Amino acid sequence: MIVENLNKIKSDIPEDVTLVAVSKTKPNSAIMAAYEVGQRAFGENKVQDLAAKAEALPDDIEWHMIGHLQTNKVKYIAPFVHLIHGVDSFKLLKEIDKRAQQQQRIIGCLLQVHIAEETSKFGLSVLDLQALLKESSSLKNIAIKGLMGMATNTSDASVLRKEFAFLKHTFAQFQSEHNELKILSMGMSGDYAIAIEEGSTMVRVGSAIFGSRL
Ligand SMILES: *Cc1c(COP(=O)(O)O)cnc(C)c1O
Repeated sequence: MIVENLNKIKSDIPEDVTLVAVSKTKPNSAIMAAYEVGQRAFGENKVQDLAAKAEALPDDIEWHMIGHLQTNKVKYIAPFVHLIHGVDSFKLLKEIDKRAQQQQRIIGCLLQVHIAEETSKFGLSVLDLQALLKESSSLKNIAIKGLMGMATNTSDASVLRKEFAFLKHTFAQFQSEHNELKILSMGMSGDYAIAIEEGSTMVRVGSAIFGSRL
């Protein structure tokens, strides 16, 4: 099923939208099934799983850290991580910068913006985002490549559309001053179609490819 699901989603999304296959909790064999048909970008939300899978699987996989990252765990993924979605503090950015420097790398990061109704989700307000972009310009070993957001967990399309449109608007607003912002990571299994209509350039899709996680 993995290959069929993947092909279906790839045929659904425009070519200029990047598909990150979210493989969290799934075995290496599932990742390899997708890899064999050409998928290279995979996302994990736990540092330990990400490190173990990167160690075991082919070197040309692009690993995306999509979960909340704790400062004390950055060192475990700094040697290889391709893009860290969901950065929401200067403290975390500074640590990523420090570990990237030790690895003589530049690590790509996305800043997470709070767009959902729920208060429990991580993310920056627009004001915090502005401050963080300014502050981070001194860090040489990180590259802020764009923004990431998670919409409310709802099937109400009008709520999803409104939240994605807000993030796209914020993205466009900051792009005019920060032309290094190229990536807008929004959309998951249940809402990627709406996210793309509202301007997403990168979707993070798990269960629609690999099946439910239970
Ligand atoms: C799990 C997860 C996804 C994928 O969720 P699905 O609904 O399975 O597609 C996307 N983004 C983040 C941040 C996640 O934690």
